[in-house]
Amino acid sequence: MNTLLEELLARAPLITDGALGTQLQTRGLVTGECPDAWNLSRPDRVEEVARAYVEAGSDIILTNTFRANRLALAGYGLADKTEEINRAGVELARRAAAGQAKVFASVGPSGKMLATGDVSEEELTTAFSEQVQALAKAGAEGIAIETMTDLAEAKLAVAAARDVGLPIVASMVFDSGRDRDRTMTGVTPEQAAQELTAQGADVIGANCGLGIAGYVPICRRLHASTDRPIWIKPNAGLPEMVEGRVVYKTTPQEFAAFVPALLEAGASFVGGCCGTGPEFVRLMKETVRSWKRR
Ligand SMILES: [Zn+2]
Repeated sequence: MNTLLEELLARAPLITDGALGTQLQTRGLVTGECPDAWNLSRPDRVEEVARAYVEAGSDIILTNTFRANRLALAGYGLADKTEEINRAGVELARRAAAGQAKVFASVGPSGKMLATGDVSEEELTTAFSEQVQALAKAGAEGIAIETMTDLAEAKLAVAAARDVGLPIVASMVFDSGRDRDRTMTGVTPEQAAQELTAQGADVIGANCGLGIAGYVPICRRLHASTDRPIWIKPNAGLPEMVEGRVVYKTTPQEFAAFVPALLEAGASFVGGCCGTGPEFVRLMKETVRSWKRR
C-alpha cells in the first residue's frame, strides 16, 4: 500500500471536506460560471473556502479542479487553460492546508457520454491523463475521482491516475433505480466496488446524489465488496427548489448525527458534498473524536 495512505489509515476514521461549489456560490459564483476558473480569477475566495475547511478540522481537503479536464473546460471555452487551472487549484489548496491537511486533487466526470458515442475511450483517457499529470506535477498528494455516474468512465480515470503513482480514490454517485441504490447506468455498489478495486483504485467511495441516511446502506455494501477503505461524502439531503433556487436542508447537527452509523457501516473517510460547509466538518470532527473514545 502507498505510504501516505498507510499513514492516513493509521489515524482513521478521517474527516475530509465539504462542498466547494455551493460554498463558492455563497461567495458570488453565478449559475453557468465555471467554478474551476476561479482558481485563476478569484484565487482569494477559493483559498478562503479551503482554509475554512482546514480550520474546521478537515484531515484531507480537495482541490477546486472538479471540472478541470479539457473536455469539460471546453464547454466554458477554457480548454487552453487546462494545465494552469489544475496547477493553481493544487497550489491554492496546499497553501490553505499549510501542512495541517493533506491535499487530494478532485477529478470529476467529463460531462460527455461514452454510451452514446459523444466521446471515445481514447479521448477520455487523454483528457484524464493530462489532468492527473498536471495535478501531480503541481504537488497533489492523492487523486480523488468523484461524482462519477458511469462506471466505464470512472475506470478510465482510475487507469489514467495509476500512472502518476499517487493514492487513488474512486467515488461514484448512487441515487438511481427504484431503491435509489444504483448509478445512473444501473450499476450496483457491489459491482462498482469490485470493478474499481480490480482497476487499481486504493479507496472506494460514494458521494453526491443522496443525503447521509441513504449512504449508510450503500457504505455497508461497498465495504462488504472490497478490501479497500471506504470514502463517503453525502449531500446535505436531497436538493429542493425554493423560490427558484436549489437548497439543501439537512442541518450540520442532523448530518453529524449520522456519522457514527457510517463509521459502523465501514467508512474510513467521511465528508460532505453539495450543500455542506465548514460547520458540517466541525461537527463531524467532534463526532469522530467522541466515537474514537467510546
Ligand atoms: Zn454533490
